[in-house]
Amino acid sequence: MRVLITGAAGFIGYSVARRLMERGDDVLGIDIMNDYYDPSLKEARISQLRQDFDDKFEFVKSDFSDMAALTGALNGQHFDRIVHLGAQAGVRYSIENPHAYLSANLAGHLNLLEIARHRECEHMVYASSSSVYGGNTKLPFSVDDRVDHPVSLYAATKRGNELMSECYAHLYRLPQTGLRFFTVYGPWGRPDMMMWIFTRKILAGEPIPVFNNGDMWRDFTFIDDIVSGVVACLDNPPTDNGEAKAGGSTKPHRLYNIGNHRSEHLMKVVEILQDELGRKAEIDLLPMQPGDVRQSFADIDAIRDDLGYEPTTSVESGVPKFVAWYRDYHGE
Ligand code: NAD
Repeated sequence: MRVLITGAAGFIGYSVARRLMERGDDVLGIDIMNDYYDPSLKEARISQLRQDFDDKFEFVKSDFSDMAALTGALNGQHFDRIVHLGAQAGVRYSIENPHAYLSANLAGHLNLLEIARHRECEHMVYASSSSVYGGNTKLPFSVDDRVDHPVSLYAATKRGNELMSECYAHLYRLPQTGLRFFTVYGPWGRPDMMMWIFTRKILAGEPIPVFNNGDMWRDFTFIDDIVSGVVACLDNPPTDNGEAKAGGSTKPHRLYNIGNHRSEHLMKVVEILQDELGRKAEIDLLPMQPGDVRQSFADIDAIRDDLGYEPTTSVESGVPKFVAWYRDYHGE
């Protein structure tokens, strides 16, 4: 199988590309290599994939929010399925830079839908986010919950992606799966996310910012579990027989949560980090930030029942794996 992966230089894109090529698939990756976080990390990911997979991996630097650029980058190349992971990520950044989200996340998603439709792609799997649950207080978050009150523009664009995909499934019967990821962490992770920021600051002896005065809970999901979920979905396109049930859809479009099905207190993760790093964290308790939510917790029954997805990595075993990778990457 030849798979187009957008955001292939990103955290999740890199990890999905790796798993697919390890099992023998070919990957065509595209990424704009933007500087939302240090582009040298993105370059390192691409170099690693080139080194490890040689001619199974092809990479093109391109902006998928520009249809002409995207079409040129794909250059008539064949692929069977799409994993659309490229996006402008980050809740807080969306408050300062709203326009970045419209082009990358909305125009970009539409362009991928058009490519998938015109090339009669077998299945497009795309990234949504737990942030679509916004201020929901009913726990755990289920794909059957109403999600009509996003609290950040990032979340609004992700919900927008789901609606655009639902529309393309209706109009063109385009098989698609949208995945609501819950706080992903692990090797090759993101420098703008909590796990990396806390690790860096604890090692530097700087205070770590803990929002909502410490009353924060997250469903932390280890990257390997996320990748297993993405690949299970990719291999099993939704059928177009009116029976696809996750997310209530009767079209060839379904939505799944991919989480760990455990909502952990942030301070528990800080304790694990302290143990692993051998240093005490200085805690800076701060108020709730605009766009943020107090708690996330994934109901994973739909993907478990349909595809046998089962997360295997707790924070107790996953955080040490991240710390080991972080030290190695920084040559410590
Ligand atoms: P990431 O920022 O590491 O990767 C996204 C990649 O997309 C980046 O390398 C970026 O350069 C690329 N990109 C952005 N705009 C582009 C454009 N116009 N053209 C081409 N490439 C472009 O983020 P990630 O953590 O790997 O996230 C992957 C997907 O999962 C994103 O859609 C994100 O919103 C979603 N998600 C991630 C998490 C998480 O915890 N990491 C949680 C929920 C949802």
